[in-house]
Amino acid sequence: MHVKYSGQCLCGKISYSVDIEPVFTGNCHCKDCQRSSGSAFIPAMVFREIDVVVSGEVKYFKSQADSGDIHKRGFCPNCGSQLFARFSNMPGMLGIKAGTLNNTSNYAPKLDFHVGGAAPWDFMNPELPKKQGAAQS
Ligand SMILES: [Zn+2]
Ligand SMILES: [Zn+2]
Repeated sequence: MHVKYSGQCLCGKISYSVDIEPVFTGNCHCKDCQRSSGSAFIPAMVFREIDVVVSGEVKYFKSQADSGDIHKRGFCPNCGSQLFARFSNMPGMLGIKAGTLNNTSNYAPKLDFHVGGAAPWDFMNPELPKKQGAAQS
């Protein structure tokens, strides 16, 4: 069986698959995404959670964004890979970090957001629209 999107963490204990297109794709350059990923940005795909099949035990870390929204970052407790995100302002939705895809060429970002907090060495595709703040507001 071939699904549109599938991926896993580094150790392989957590894997996922989704067979429909995401409702949103974009790169988040906020400070929390930089700190939690150790990199310049998080490439995010957002799906309805009921459309995503997850196997393995995911642990969620809760933090509060500057907007006041609660952001839960899902990671593998064994290898630490960050795979998922839940957002209090988007109930029922699940974010997937595109770097965990088995085929990363399936990810097509449509937007760079929270670019106001981007690191000076962060390189962005000049052809994508840029937003200073959150993706949806
Ligand atoms: Zn793992
Ligand atoms: Zn972010």
